[in-house]
Amino acid sequence: MRIDLHTHSSVSDGTDTPAGLVAQAVTAGLDVVALTDHDTFDGLPEALAAGGRLGVEVLRGIEISAQRRGASVHLLGYGCRVDDRALSAELARVREGRSGRVGAMLARLSALGMPIPADVLYRQVGDSPSVGRPHFADAMIELGYVADRTEAFDTWLADDKPVFVPRYAVPVAQGVALVRASGGVAVLAHPWGRGRREHLSPDVLADLARGGLDGIEVDHQDHDQATRDELRGLAGELNLLATGSSDYHGTGKVDHDLGCNTTAPDVLDAIRARVAERGGLL
Ligand code: AMP
Ligand code: ZN
Ligand code: FE
Ligand code: FE
Repeated sequence: MRIDLHTHSSVSDGTDTPAGLVAQAVTAGLDVVALTDHDTFDGLPEALAAGGRLGVEVLRGIEISAQRRGASVHLLGYGCRVDDRALSAELARVREGRSGRVGAMLARLSALGMPIPADVLYRQVGDSPSVGRPHFADAMIELGYVADRTEAFDTWLADDKPVFVPRYAVPVAQGVALVRASGGVAVLAHPWGRGRREHLSPDVLADLARGGLDGIEVDHQDHDQATRDELRGLAGELNLLATGSSDYHGTGKVDHDLGCNTTAPDVLDAIRARVAERGGLL
């Protein structure tokens, strides 16, 4: 069984359509794939239909833009009831924050000598309801300002770079509670990737575990081997599920191929059992 529990389609900032992503999952030899677009469930119907056709099991997922004391934290939810009122309202608030900062980011880019016509940006966004910095990066690539998404982030878009404009994100403890109240299972994405370690100490993780966090993503490309070993130990101590996944973004992120990290079958069984127990969607 090959199980990949964290992927993005063009419904957020990946480059494959949901059906295209499921087709790629077949090629990658996956048996189970979770679609976890940023702050939206909109890709799930297409992915589920493709999974039925192509013989891949698709798990409903989402990656919620959360924060702790202002520092960005990503929270994965599995099996949430997609029509849950409280969760939907919070996701809408995040998406409005995403749309609401576009003008300010375009203004900064213009001031820096990198104007992006709105139609160029919105062609990159396509029909995604969740506009993100990778769409800006792709517009910058198209206009020849940068070579790739990595350069765009490292020079301009990352949290400490000049084009970054903050937006609303869900307090992470509240995110955990919302995921669980909607029947879902809550797993922290890449907890110690990209500078997050200082904001998510073992004590903070223990606190979140007491608050209902189900698991942490241990095997992720942003974690080196030593970090994975430490996180796996911590998951054991805190009785948290340890997952592994690719965080695939199609051609949008190099070194994140589908199935490059995987989740153990017994962990998936535990996730399913909890979703069933909580009245979520399997
Ligand atoms: P946003 O959703 O606008 O906050 O943008 C964050 C997303 O951009 C992340 O979820 C990643 O998919 C992507 N990202 C963040 N940092 C980088 C980077 N250094 N290179 C490429 N993509 C990145
Ligand atoms: Zn992303
Ligand atoms: Fe993430
Ligand atoms: Fe992700």
